[in-house]
Amino acid sequence: MQHVTLNTGARMPILGFGVYQIPADRTEQAVGSALAAGYRLLDTAAAYGNEEAVGLAIRRSGIPREDLFVTTKLWIQDAPAERNTRRAFETSLTRLGLDHVDLYLMHQPYGDVYGQWRAMEAVHREGLARAIGVANFSPDRLLDLVLNNEIAPAVNQIETHPFFQRTADHALMREHGVRHQAWGGFAEGRNDLFTHPVLAGIGAAHGKSVAQVVLRWLIQRDIVTIPKSVNPDRMAQNIDVFDFALTDDQMAAVAALDTGATLFFDHRDPEMVAWLSRRRLDG
Ligand code: NAP
Repeated sequence: MQHVTLNTGARMPILGFGVYQIPADRTEQAVGSALAAGYRLLDTAAAYGNEEAVGLAIRRSGIPREDLFVTTKLWIQDAPAERNTRRAFETSLTRLGLDHVDLYLMHQPYGDVYGQWRAMEAVHREGLARAIGVANFSPDRLLDLVLNNEIAPAVNQIETHPFFQRTADHALMREHGVRHQAWGGFAEGRNDLFTHPVLAGIGAAHGKSVAQVVLRWLIQRDIVTIPKSVNPDRMAQNIDVFDFALTDDQMAAVAALDTGATLFFDHRDPEMVAWLSRRRLDG
């Protein structure tokens, strides 16, 4: 497994396993299979409702804690944000059954972002979150957070796939030492990604699947990726991407697929802000 180094000095696998939309009662099995397949980075969130199952799978695996990199995420908190963020973090730790997480992300760029961030800085200073970061932050919001706080985010996890490549976001993150992590690396299969002729053609040249081409393309862009699958064969396929490389021409062919637009939602769209802000989690 290839690793990247965060601005904390910590090492993070460049490829991990995401558990969004895996129902809680199927998550323990899926994570168990992923760990058996060799994944060591797990990406969950309070909002996914499956932190407990992730924790159970970790304990059942017998894999030493120090060999794992566990990420979870903070949902938007009511005021007072600092106190509620602390409580939400402790709830996540309890659900996971862990004494620390490797990365704690602010899931959405909404609410009292600065209050939430100060509480995240505090749990980081106490060693309870070895690194802290954000998700779904646009370049302007990210830069504001970087420039006006004591601790800069280690990671920004954003929608990134061949149809929405985030090159400007990537350049800004690189400039400020924020690691780019892709969510939805397969665009969840939208735009017929898994049968796209350009991606399939590159795959045929290497004897690899479209999924493997996409993951390889992300890795060669130095982007951390966390594909989700409930299928053990696909889990094995998705981690088997370290024995080939896209040529410069193939990287350019994938670069040409960028539409510059989201296939999911724009976090700066007022309707989206309102919709996500209405959601609150228990605990
Ligand atoms: P994704 O990884 O782009 O796509 C997952 C889909 O691809 C599933 O339907 C899966 O089906 C299928 N798939 C996986 N491997 C395949 C393969 N080799 N061949 C064919 N199909 C394959 O989508 P995602 O789950 O939205 O994103 C990945 C992770 O990013 C999430 O799990 C989550 O951890 C994180 N995320 C974060 C945010 C955020 O706001 N921060 C938002 C979304 C996601 P099967 O399961 O049936 O194999």
